[in-house]
Amino acid sequence: MLTDADLALRPGRGQRSPWLREALALEGDPAPLPGPASDLEADVVIVGGGYTGMWSAWHLLERDAGLRIAIVEQDICGGGPSGRNGGFVNAWWDELDTLVELYGPEPALEAARAVSASVSAIGAWCAEHGVDAHFRQAGMAVVSTTPVHDARPRAAVSAARELGAPEEFVALSAEEVQARCRSSRFRGGALMRDGATVQPALLARGLRRVLLERGVTIHEGTRLTRIRATSGPLVRLAVESGGAIHEIRAPHAVLALNAWAAGWRPFHRSILAWGSYMVRTEPIPDRIDTELGWTGGESIYTARFNVEYLHVTRDGRIAIGSGGGVPGYGGRIGPSFTDDVGSARRAALAFRTLFPMFADVRLTDAWGGPIDVSPDHLPRFGSLSGGRVHYALGFSGNGVGPSHLAGRVLAALALGSDEPLTRLPMVGPPRRNLPPEPFRSIGARIMRRAIMAREAMELDGRGAPLALRQFTALPRRLGYHLGPSAGPSWRIRKR
Ligand SMILES: Cc1cc2nc3c(=O)[nH]c(=O)nc-3n(C[C@H](O)[C@H](O)[C@H](O)COP(=O)(O)OP(=O)(O)OC[C@H]3O[C@@H](n4cnc5c(N)ncnc54)[C@H](O)[C@@H]3O)c2cc1C
Repeated sequence: MLTDADLALRPGRGQRSPWLREALALEGDPAPLPGPASDLEADVVIVGGGYTGMWSAWHLLERDAGLRIAIVEQDICGGGPSGRNGGFVNAWWDELDTLVELYGPEPALEAARAVSASVSAIGAWCAEHGVDAHFRQAGMAVVSTTPVHDARPRAAVSAARELGAPEEFVALSAEEVQARCRSSRFRGGALMRDGATVQPALLARGLRRVLLERGVTIHEGTRLTRIRATSGPLVRLAVESGGAIHEIRAPHAVLALNAWAAGWRPFHRSILAWGSYMVRTEPIPDRIDTELGWTGGESIYTARFNVEYLHVTRDGRIAIGSGGGVPGYGGRIGPSFTDDVGSARRAALAFRTLFPMFADVRLTDAWGGPIDVSPDHLPRFGSLSGGRVHYALGFSGNGVGPSHLAGRVLAALALGSDEPLTRLPMVGPPRRNLPPEPFRSIGARIMRRAIMAREAMELDGRGAPLALRQFTALPRRLGYHLGPSAGPSWRIRKR
């Protein structure tokens, strides 16, 4: 099914994502901002120049414009997943079952509403600050691709209805799905209205520009090597840049490290780093309009565990990712997260399978990056070291919208504010640990294979044998909100 050109496609190899290449070209390919020339002090130091770190800086300044904020980023701002993700900005209405199970109905609604507010706020922020990140809020459709999965989108619709928010997830008949996008693989589904898309690197680089204009100090090519918050009022961070080590001192530090947090001791059992990969086509705007009728701007997720997620870019390409990347080991973030040809081919195969009519369309780019999978498949926002070090982690590959909320929460935590925002149910220490290595990554690899085998059978329309369904439900039986349940109609999940 893959073409020779697909087979020749290589992700990574030191290349930046196509989104980031485009965004940097618009800026005239600037050099990275320099590291610190000496030791320095700030009011808040933020480690990580992705969305979480940069939204934290933004919201800190919204609360106190006079704060001295320093961001240190080992690469360039947006060089990590924030500049290489799919650009799907989604709310949490499809996570309702997990939210209710973990927090109860009212806090679950509060959490979902807070993330929804962030989806719209990102669009409003872009408009206000002249950041053209191609923000388009047209909803997210979840579609079944096999009779075995038909019940899943309907389950999300009833979950929203049961909680008194029926407008958030609306059922779509097979005909209504076809009216939105004519893939012969698509069956019935549902539409979550709070879904948007962006060109992710334009958002990341727009944030960077606005923060610089607001006086934030950004050190790129600058890596945190050690953090001490044991005694005294200041957190001390040793950072390395171009071979020189300097100390940054601040009363508060924000760690916005995403998957890299897996390499730091307090968090090493809170998340598992996992690879995620995407491909995109050459521009084919007319064919998308005429052959698919996909003109509404909605993103589409298939109702699988190894979900396919796709949208149309402003220049008329289809960008598509597919679950099924490979888990990492311990806290190492190496080339398996960016250079894995097998994972990129799975994304290419997803495109070829869903759109056989585009057999002659070229895939021009493949790329990947690490995501931070938490035991609940939801992030946690919290503080350590007597309330001086603050963190967000565990977005589980769905951080574009929620990182905005994370930034709001981290800003409030860093300023010691006690308010409804800091009492949201996802604020607090990680609820449970993942197993230690090597069991964690070995178990994840075995489970990944088993789920792939189960899904291959389900996509054939056969359904999987009970023993395999029971086995793939093991993480859930052990209390993790990860993987499918044994029944055929477990709820949908974005990744
Ligand atoms: C291929 C792919 C597709 C995805 N698609 C989607 C999607 O469509 N929708 C969605 O919601 N989510 C998606 N995600 C996930 C999303 O990108 C993340 O959840 C989000 O970007 C998290 O933002 P962040 O700022 O927390 O992390 P990051 O963007 O990863 O930022 C963390 C930064 O910390 C830096 N850093 C790490 N360690 C150090 C250190 N020691 N010193 C200094 N700096 C350090 C890193 O270099 C990095 O830039 C995808 C991810 C990938 C990889």
